[in-house]
Amino acid sequence: MKSKSELTPLQVEICLNRGTERPFTGKLLGQTHQGIYRCVVCHEALFQSETKFESGCGWPSFFEAISKSAVRYLEDHSHGMHRVEIRCGHCDSHLGHVFNDGPTPTGLRYCVNSVSMCFEDQETGEMIEG
Ligand SMILES: [Zn+2]
Repeated sequence: MKSKSELTPLQVEICLNRGTERPFTGKLLGQTHQGIYRCVVCHEALFQSETKFESGCGWPSFFEAISKSAVRYLEDHSHGMHRVEIRCGHCDSHLGHVFNDGPTPTGLRYCVNSVSMCFEDQETGEMIEG
């Protein structure tokens, strides 16, 4: 688990202050390798590469979390919208939002800041921060 002083300014802005990275800027957006997407703060597993899809929205998108407890869901009424915020189920770090316009089988689109995650490449074992 990283302490606040170990996070980059951008990670603090996104993960702790519930910010949003600029679309189409995330390092993990185009990542297509097999592996596991983890929380950048506590490294708990969040999503599997098999559930990642190209949504065109500019942020890494998944149709399913890796487990029921991996992600926490909160009503978000900020910016005059009704959305569902998603946070790491383990450390409460902000991840993004989940929408009901995703593909089958779930119909969900977990829209996640790349900065909120690190990717563990199954083949190389390399850990890439988003
Ligand atoms: Zn976490």
